[in-house]
Amino acid sequence: MDRQQEFVLRTIEERDIRFVRLWFTDVLGTLKSVAVAPAELEGAFAEGIGFDGSAIEGFARIYEADMLAKPDPSTFQILPWRGESPGTARMFCDICLPDGSPSIADPRQVLKRALDKASDAGFTFYTHPEIEFFLLDRSAQSGADPVAIDTAGYFDHVPGGSGQDFRRSAITMLESMGISVEFSHHEGAPGQNEIDLRYADALTMADNIMTFRTVVKEVALEQNIYATFMPKVFAEHPGSGMHTHMSLFEGDTNAFYEAGGPYQLSTTGRRFIAGLLRHGAEFTAVTNQWVNSYKRLWGGGEAPAYLTWGHNNRSAMVRVPMYKPNKGNSSRVEVRTIDAACNPYLAYAVLLAAGLKGIEEGYELPAETEDDVWRLTADERRAMGIDPLPASLAEAIAAMERSELVAETLGDHVFEYFLRNKRAEWDDYRNQVTAFELSRYLPRL
Ligand code: GLN
Ligand code: MG
Ligand code: MG
Ligand code: MG
Repeated sequence: MDRQQEFVLRTIEERDIRFVRLWFTDVLGTLKSVAVAPAELEGAFAEGIGFDGSAIEGFARIYEADMLAKPDPSTFQILPWRGESPGTARMFCDICLPDGSPSIADPRQVLKRALDKASDAGFTFYTHPEIEFFLLDRSAQSGADPVAIDTAGYFDHVPGGSGQDFRRSAITMLESMGISVEFSHHEGAPGQNEIDLRYADALTMADNIMTFRTVVKEVALEQNIYATFMPKVFAEHPGSGMHTHMSLFEGDTNAFYEAGGPYQLSTTGRRFIAGLLRHGAEFTAVTNQWVNSYKRLWGGGEAPAYLTWGHNNRSAMVRVPMYKPNKGNSSRVEVRTIDAACNPYLAYAVLLAAGLKGIEEGYELPAETEDDVWRLTADERRAMGIDPLPASLAEAIAAMERSELVAETLGDHVFEYFLRNKRAEWDDYRNQVTAFELSRYLPRL
């Protein structure tokens, strides 16, 4: 047993932990959990805990249904919402096959592979997400029409309001689990909030995002409200995104920084953006994986709609945020398409792979667009080489199907499973006759 594993066992003794939840994530980004008694942990560290993978989205083909969950001791945390004593803790797991080899279906290992590739090129990948979500009346949970818990707007401070109480409880809980929060505020729409996590390496961050979603849901339940990361809840209000700031470091040096470069961006940074734009349409199905995700992307409300970049352009997929002179290590690139209902492991893997491809191949960064792209005509946009993002899940699937980069990054199994699942989702959606159609067509046709 190594020192981290010993530390976990000792803490379990000292803190009277009776249940240890082993967490992992399915291909669609749903958190899975199996609780084990502390006595099982030594074996879990050595060999993993067996489970039937065939019941989990994307995990198994019939002949390899037996899987092992191997806990990562560096992710050990006590779950604050489960009470003090006897306590409950959790660890994230890597999923293996019975012979101990990594499962090709495990999203955490998809991201690890992408990070290894970055590390072979000398880079560490850091991310920092701005996570938006809605707080709604509890009834929304059972499918009733959504009702926001307040009518406040961007940065509003509501005296006696429940938004700030909610954020305070959620942040306290996150920090007690070792997840640092940088900012939090009310967002633009009624009931909409944002919490920004302090940057971390992308694997830690993907784990943190999974924890974040659980914490936010738990705190909401405690306060008798409902929290949702659904990308577009109200047609007439902005949707919820998960803008993610990204940087590559070589040792202690930010590889995106160049004093005197445009927006202090180095060639590496420019090529990274070029990679994101060139492959953007191909990986959008992964960063924005639901039918509903595309209602946000075309819905205004500062959500991006074009495969462009800019400094101050809210319709652009990529933005280079305001920088502070002489603070080279804060140079970064913000992707604005991604939403919080994605699988963060897969999404960060494809974003990194696209950026690295831009660096490897020396892609040239196209000119930035500072114009309000919405106001240009389609012809003007075409002349300027400005392409729209995929307009629907169907378009995103079509672009992903043709992508060697996404296939290589996800691995064939996850790639095929994901596409199959998303095609089925699109077919279900196509089969619907919507309220829009009934109210629009029935009276006149
Ligand atoms: N809610 C917007 C989106 O969907 C972002 C708003 C903002 O943070 N500027 O991307
Ligand atoms: Mg923000
Ligand atoms: Mg925001
Ligand atoms: Mg932002």
